[in-house]
Amino acid sequence: MIEPLERVMAVNDRLLLQIEKMEVVYHHVITAIQGISLNIGDNQIVALLGTNGAGKTTILRAISGFLGLDNAKVTEGSICFQGEEIQNKPPHIITQKGIVLVPERNKVFEHLTVEENLHLSAGLTGEQDQKILDYFPVLRRIKRRLGGYLSGGERQMLALAAALLCRPKLLLIDEMSLGLAPLVVRDLMQLVKTIREENRVSILLVEQNATAALEIADYGYVIENGRLVYAGDIEKLKNHKDIQEFYLGRGEQQSRKSYREVKQYRRTRRWYG
Ligand code: ATP
Repeated sequence: MIEPLERVMAVNDRLLLQIEKMEVVYHHVITAIQGISLNIGDNQIVALLGTNGAGKTTILRAISGFLGLDNAKVTEGSICFQGEEIQNKPPHIITQKGIVLVPERNKVFEHLTVEENLHLSAGLTGEQDQKILDYFPVLRRIKRRLGGYLSGGERQMLALAAALLCRPKLLLIDEMSLGLAPLVVRDLMQLVKTIREENRVSILLVEQNATAALEIADYGYVIENGRLVYAGDIEKLKNHKDIQEFYLGRGEQQSRKSYREVKQYRRTRRWYG
């Protein structure tokens, strides 16, 4: 059984980010997020799962400050980063505090080379920067290639490297697996795990590919229609029957149910959140 949210939230004593009862509204009328609370601990990988339109990207936009670009706002609740409220602050202020977003689309500058993309993120002079690039040997090999000519996996690596060069305390990664072959996804996920192990960085991983995300995360949240429906540590999530059935595609008939069936199922049960 998944733990009730209140208990889960209370036990995490080394919080980096704390979202409390957040509501997000687009264009003053469309409520996309309702009463969501979510914690990210120090050096933790947290997976945020949910189907299309659940509100995952909106949560990332709220944390990173990009909501304003879409005429949206945090209208209720708060987002605290290292104890300081940051909701509705502009993106450049939030980036300065150490929160860096790797967006789902437009990850790299297509008309710049790999090298130029990296230079834009940070001065590539220090030892630490070289250490970060050591995680991505392929980028050294293709440093003069234009961003627009990179494969999906190379593009994702470039985006990750560029984000890491900003020395984030919290990295927000939106749909890293999107459009990539399973083997590439597996390698990228392992790379993210290694980066977390060898650097002091927390990661919020937004994914539709629950299987990939749960492989490396410590803790997971599941949202549906802008509300939190599950929260739990990763072993509990992986072993939870509903998560297996609806997100990992391991139902009683060994097949993923359709979204409609899931909805039908949900109406017949009581959920947390
Ligand atoms: P996906 O996995 O498909 O990217 P998601 O979980 O990231 O979905 P969001 O993109 O956060 O979901 O969208 C959550 C809700 O907010 C949806 O109902 C969507 O229609 C709405 N929404 C998102 N962006 C905007 C926008 N710019 N203007 C109005 N509504 C929006």
